[in-house]
Amino acid sequence: MDNNVLEIRNLKKSFDGNGVLDGISLSVREGEVIVVVGPSGCGKSTLLRCVNGLEQPDGGEILLDGQPISAGNLVQVRRQIGMVFQSYDLFPHMDVLENLTLGPVKALKRPKGEAEEEARQALRRVGLEDKLLALPRQLSGGQKQRVALVRAMMMHPRMLLLDEITAALDPEMVREVLNVVLDLARDGMTMLIVTHEMRFAEAVADRVLFLENGTIVEEGKPADFFHHPRTERARQFLDTFEFTAVKKP
Ligand code: ADP
Ligand code: MG
Repeated sequence: MDNNVLEIRNLKKSFDGNGVLDGISLSVREGEVIVVVGPSGCGKSTLLRCVNGLEQPDGGEILLDGQPISAGNLVQVRRQIGMVFQSYDLFPHMDVLENLTLGPVKALKRPKGEAEEEARQALRRVGLEDKLLALPRQLSGGQKQRVALVRAMMMHPRMLLLDEITAALDPEMVREVLNVVLDLARDGMTMLIVTHEMRFAEAVADRVLFLENGTIVEEGKPADFFHHPRTERARQFLDTFEFTAVKKP
């Protein structure tokens, strides 16, 4: 049997009668990194929001480790799926250490000292060991997003959902954040990533999905998708991008 962490079957979602997701099916294996690309408004965020229950699907099924996600298990599911958005959603009145340890201590009942030690080590890995006691407003956008990634990882999630996490950053900060994601990929983290950074997408993805009008128009290995797209729509889409260099994993 495949080790599917996530399985999406025929997912449908509309808003006020407008179809946004029109039967999306997708499996994500353990350790796999899937990148979703597509034009603005095609339903990428809605797809991710359905996976962690921020939106209620109209049809289809979403399974985490084989268990259908439902209203009854949403709290547990959210704990197992880390999500980072475009805007830094750190708690503004808490320092970095408190932001990182709140979830593990409160929700997972982990000993505070242990969570703090893990937070210290994790911050060191992302180059922020000196920001332990900083407040979010004292950090740059790139630093905040690195903390947000560490915070998601502190919950030891089964997978991460990343929705355009560098879209609000100045260009010089994009790379430092994407490098953290590349490190997570190398460590085997299962991820579903929405990004407009195409070089990064190529470097990090095991598979790329091109979404348009609520359906998966094209799916393939990054080398194929980015260099030999099969559909005219994907070709046109890719033509609109500048490619930002990142380090290769
Ligand atoms: P993407 O992330 O690909 O840019 P979204 O998933 O955010 O696209 O949005 C897909 C479509 O659904 C858009 O037309 C958007 O306006 C619409 N939409 C998203 N969320 C809502 C909502 N809560 N209410 C109404 N329409 C929404
Ligand atoms: Mg979006």
